[in-house]
Amino acid sequence: PNSLMWFRNDLRLGDNPALNAACEYAGVHGGKVRAVYLVTPKQWQHHHVAPMQIDFIRRHLELLARSLGALGIPLDVLYGQVFDDTAALLVDYVNEHQIGAIFAGKEPEINEQRRDNALIASGLNLTLLQQDCLLAPGAVLNLSGDMYKVFTPFSKKWKQIAASMQILPVPVPAPVGSAITQIAPIVFDCPMRSSEAWQAGEGAAKRILERFLNQNVAEYQVLRDFPAEEGTSRLSPYLALGIISPKQCVAAILQRFPEALVDYTSPAKTWLNELMWREFYRHLLVAFPRLSMGHNFNALGDGIKWRNDKAEFNAWCEGRTGYPLVDAAMRQLNQTGWMHNRLRMLVASFLTKHLLIDWRWGEQYFRQQLIDGDLAANNGGWQWSAGTGCDAQPYFRVFSPLSQSAKFDSDCEFIKRFVPELSEVSNKAIHEIKCSAAYEAAKVDLFAPPELEGKSATYPAPIVEHSFARKRAIEVLSALKKG
Ligand code: FAD
Repeated sequence: PNSLMWFRNDLRLGDNPALNAACEYAGVHGGKVRAVYLVTPKQWQHHHVAPMQIDFIRRHLELLARSLGALGIPLDVLYGQVFDDTAALLVDYVNEHQIGAIFAGKEPEINEQRRDNALIASGLNLTLLQQDCLLAPGAVLNLSGDMYKVFTPFSKKWKQIAASMQILPVPVPAPVGSAITQIAPIVFDCPMRSSEAWQAGEGAAKRILERFLNQNVAEYQVLRDFPAEEGTSRLSPYLALGIISPKQCVAAILQRFPEALVDYTSPAKTWLNELMWREFYRHLLVAFPRLSMGHNFNALGDGIKWRNDKAEFNAWCEGRTGYPLVDAAMRQLNQTGWMHNRLRMLVASFLTKHLLIDWRWGEQYFRQQLIDGDLAANNGGWQWSAGTGCDAQPYFRVFSPLSQSAKFDSDCEFIKRFVPELSEVSNKAIHEIKCSAAYEAAKVDLFAPPELEGKSATYPAPIVEHSFARKRAIEVLSALKKG
């Protein structure tokens, strides 16, 4: 019999144990190896996958098909609509190509897990390998054998386990047949948006990683908070689709900084920490399936009375809140499909705290735009910001959008890049944008804020006054207060 590699969010040849297992199976059974990718546009729509991420997948698959072709492995794209179509598509394929075993990487999200469990229960010979985290979900537990609910002890344990392992990415398998050079273009029949600003391909991801580790990692701790700088790796679109693996990232860190897992002064320690946040949220998704279902991690969050004002939500989406850094951030997202982490935290805090709009609205909007959309990190980031999450920002900590801009974009370079209406306004005026005097009166009704004055034709006045919004947020979000 032949074997089948089913690519999902592990679109790489290097460090792909499932692909290696498929090759080994075929070797042992004297069969051939094939590969498939399943297109499910309705499911993607249901999961709010961004048209830019879909285009990025499509472009990347064309390169993957070529690299697989060089190994003698044909890649077929199968077209369905939803996950429920998977069984029929795979069964037909297995019969047509005499497939004895299917291999794929495990996925932590609940719909993906249900799909896979149903396929296995129906008798399909599907083997799932853990390859989306360095340490498998469930492998980093506290002394009582439970998932950690605080990041710092999780990260200590994670490093302790990682330091005791040999971290060797699995090599690209050797060719299993003669090279296939006729590769048909890959066409998806669903809404897409150009992702050309991001280079597709495993090679591109590796080059970005190498360059970042050689040039930027040591300054990451200082530069990562400044959105005008190229201070972060920008590897997220690649990690989200598994174009590069966390093991490849950690191995590359250790090659240059062998002390990174044990020495708190290692230049790579802050960046390594971010890879651990990624794993923390993926482990949480597996330990607490309710996170995949849109529930608050902290059940007290169910008692929050969100305002959910649609007009304010639209202003936030479109970058018209009158807070320059918030607006610049949202326009970066809308224009490029990516947003700097400092700004993701700021706009998420602004939406959930200043405007008291349910974090799920923001989570969904992000997912619809982001080229790096990833349920675990997105849900984790949103619930962290709203205060409803695991090891979240406390509900009473409310970022001030003006102090944030003065601190992290003091010369307004980033703001003026994305909010050209402000290009002639002085930096000082940008960081001190004023609200209507009505807010200054102490006794405004927290739930009937006064109309704002002073809207200019080109740039709106702030949608809500900061100290007013802060007070209101703390009052409403105190639903999260323990006991
Ligand atoms: P770097 O700073 O270079 O970090 C390296 C890698 O570590 C990232 O590529 C990412 O894979 C991981 N990482 C970094 N920070 C985090 C974090 N806080 N949580 C989880 N993983 C992290 N990241 C996504 O990949 N997809 C999302 O959909 C997503 N949504 C977010 C929503 C909110 C509200 C917030 C606050 C954060 C979100 N993040 C998300 C995390 C983070 O903002 C991005 O991973 C990061 O900005 C990507 O840029 P980078 O690759 O340059 O990151």
